[in-house]
Amino acid sequence: MEINRNFLDLEDNYLFSMLGNKIRDFSKAFTEKKIYRLGIGDVSRPLVPVIVKAMEKAVLEMGNISTFRGYGEEQGYEFLRYAISSYYSKKGINLKTEEIFISDGAKSDLGNILDIFSSDNVVLIPNPVYPVYVDTNIMGGRKILYINGNIENNFLPLPDKKIKADIIYLCSPNNPSGAVYNREELKLWVNYALENDAIILFDSAYESFIRDPALPSSIFQIEGASQCAIEFCSFSKTAGFTGTRCGYTIIPNDLVRSGSSLSKLWLRRQTTKFNGVPYIVQRGAEAVFSEEGQTQIKADIDYYLNNALIISSTLDKLGIWYTGGKNAPYIWLKCPAKMSSWEFFDYLLENAGIAGTPGKGFGECGECFFRFSAFGNSENLKEAMEELSALEKLT
Ligand code: PLP
Repeated sequence: MEINRNFLDLEDNYLFSMLGNKIRDFSKAFTEKKIYRLGIGDVSRPLVPVIVKAMEKAVLEMGNISTFRGYGEEQGYEFLRYAISSYYSKKGINLKTEEIFISDGAKSDLGNILDIFSSDNVVLIPNPVYPVYVDTNIMGGRKILYINGNIENNFLPLPDKKIKADIIYLCSPNNPSGAVYNREELKLWVNYALENDAIILFDSAYESFIRDPALPSSIFQIEGASQCAIEFCSFSKTAGFTGTRCGYTIIPNDLVRSGSSLSKLWLRRQTTKFNGVPYIVQRGAEAVFSEEGQTQIKADIDYYLNNALIISSTLDKLGIWYTGGKNAPYIWLKCPAKMSSWEFFDYLLENAGIAGTPGKGFGECGECFFRFSAFGNSENLKEAMEELSALEKLT
């Protein structure tokens, strides 16, 4: 018997546990001091009424012999896949429902998709990055190359023809930087993938935060992407499903490698290892795409984007460099006064009671940067920004 030794190569997630410990220690030592949590990536607004109503109706159906449902289709109910395909047609993308796979969230699919790829593939991952891309590939024993995000490229790295990779991760709007690729930049990635016979794994978990109509909210808005990309999306941040759990993955029928259709391989994988998402949850997700649903979730997204504006206008006044926030719920700033990520974390917590996320937690290129999340409560955030503005050591 032997374990999967790749797991031993995983770095301890000590940065994030250290963050939790530091906040706990601080609140124990200074019980009277208010802590402003600007680090969390979880949402704070509840499910909107139209979703709750749809789920209540589905619960009643499940309790009635004439409408009860047992095992569902592993790739999701047709009604939800149809609602998603209609949503994509508004973006100018025509999808067949068989190209859409419903899941319990983007994180699971981003990890599980690797089942259909050889562990000999070389993976290209932007840095800083959502840590799941790195850890799932370490578990699978794949070789990982990094492409660096920095101030010069506005944390939107572009392909380097000298690098040969088989699987490329892109996340736009980005976690942690909040930066969003434009069409021309995504086209460069699509061209690179086509030239290298590579596959782009495109994470669009934050697509609903894009308000600039010129920015692409799906990789499939880029010509050629259906021959080289898979898209992962989620209801978590779009509609407050972080606890309810639902997402979807799009694999175009055009996507073929080594003579095999990737959507067929994925369907085989899912029907073998996945039992589908609960009917009740899928009815809730379907309601997201109704006219009422779109209006109600937009109000919550506006709330978060307004929070982002509260943060960015404070940083503007303070003259601190940042990116993100306009079309994303994250703001990524350069730590002032040449502080490292952790020095700034300690300084902010001790002097203003603000807990953000040190950029280093997202990779080496995150050192000396810091992430603020806009998912909290607006009143708290305003107070936090007053505390931040009153600090001395910001230049
Ligand atoms: N992708 C990115 C970039 C994320 O930041 C997150 C969650 O924070 C996810 C995927 C996971 O989404 P889900 O809740 O659908 O698993």
